[in-house]
Amino acid sequence: MGNRYIELDKRVLGEAYGSGEALEIVTTLCDDFDSRWPGSGMDRAACEYMAGWLKGSGLENVHLEKFTLPGWIRGSSSLRLLEPKEGPVECIALPMSCEGSVEAELVYLGTGPVDAYEERRDEIEGKIVMVNSGNPPGMPRTLHRSEKYQRSVLAGAAGWIFMNHYPAYGPPTGGISPIVPAVGVSYEDGMRLARLLERKGRVRLRLETACRNLDVDTWNVVADLRGTGGSDERVIYGAHYEGHDISVGALDDATGAACVMEIARIMAGERRHLKRNMRFILFGAEEIGLLGSRAYVRAHPDEMSGIRFMMNFDAAGRDGRQGFCLHGWPALEPMFKGIVRDLGVDLPVWSQVGPYSDHWPFLLQGVPTATMGDPEEARRRGGRGFGHTKYDTVDKCNPRVMRECIGNAAVAALRLVNEDEWPARRRSQAEIDGLVQTQGYEETVQLGNRLRGYLEARRGSLRPETLVYLDRLSGNWEEVI
Ligand SMILES: [Zn+2]
Repeated sequence: MGNRYIELDKRVLGEAYGSGEALEIVTTLCDDFDSRWPGSGMDRAACEYMAGWLKGSGLENVHLEKFTLPGWIRGSSSLRLLEPKEGPVECIALPMSCEGSVEAELVYLGTGPVDAYEERRDEIEGKIVMVNSGNPPGMPRTLHRSEKYQRSVLAGAAGWIFMNHYPAYGPPTGGISPIVPAVGVSYEDGMRLARLLERKGRVRLRLETACRNLDVDTWNVVADLRGTGGSDERVIYGAHYEGHDISVGALDDATGAACVMEIARIMAGERRHLKRNMRFILFGAEEIGLLGSRAYVRAHPDEMSGIRFMMNFDAAGRDGRQGFCLHGWPALEPMFKGIVRDLGVDLPVWSQVGPYSDHWPFLLQGVPTATMGDPEEARRRGGRGFGHTKYDTVDKCNPRVMRECIGNAAVAALRLVNEDEWPARRRSQAEIDGLVQTQGYEETVQLGNRLRGYLEARRGSLRPETLVYLDRLSGNWEEVI
């Protein structure tokens, strides 16, 4: 079968591969606006830059949407080895960590498998627990850092250390909850602590964090292209623009934001050929709980049934082929395989569902969603690489991969907005619940409820920031994950 989009494909691919704009945008976001961390002021400046760029590229209805979130400002943090010898250990506080100081013995749980916390509860009570960032061997779903943290808290941990399981990447960051002080340490320092514990039988530490949990405002950037067909239906392309505060978040996720902006520019040049509407969204505050995409979904409930498709771009400049990962939509697979056929290159189209990026709040509304990437590359890499460390810098971005991402996603967008035959429909609530259950995430939901009960029972002795957190914890699983 011939490709009826061939002339359009040639033009959008020519634009994607002929332009150096994507790396330019990544460089500007990182070098001029640092991490774009919510509440830092640089988030607002970056949003104004992105909105100006989109307006200049011919997008319509470009505007900022403000939302308020439980924010976090980094203060000092320190980890000191007290026994069997004395000395400092390099560390960074984990976002949302509370203010506090704890002196206690160390317990090391390796990758922190689900059963370890209850089994070793007697050892954990009152101690500082260390786990590494690796997924427990044989575990089918991702055991997220926040789950390891929450399970440690429930077993009575007084402090928490998150150790990188990759050598030479430094201490990792990543959001947790404001219950006990928590820091990240490098693989090398973590291994040394674990060895000391093994050899001497007892390691005593002092962990101190002075960070502030407070409400802040930040923004999403929204831009539109109106289709020619007069339909209310819309395709959304989105990415988070902010990085973790310890880095400039070049790969995660300035590259995603840059790809979405470049696709917006390219599609604006072809607006006469778009039947349905496209919306481009640059989300804030993804790293501390998908807060920008959650705020967007909350603010636009009436639009959910009109969203034909949502594509999310997270770490778009990372190596690997730029294929399509559908979040459980077999009916859409033939269309995406057709896109790959038209592109004429070897690209994966596969299905997998994960909750840890901005497609998730849309998926929970039943909207068909997907991300870009390569399952083989993810397996080869085995994790985040430079992501969530201070080494996630502009020099790590691969402009060739970004061009492929932009080109493939633009070619896909032509079909997504123009095809009249649309085989997917919005999932019902029962189907959404069923999907979440088959993924094994209901365990995470139950964990959230247990944590709430645990904190309620200790209400009188909680830190002020923990009380605020508890009062916000709705017990609703979508907020917990
Ligand atoms: Zn990300």
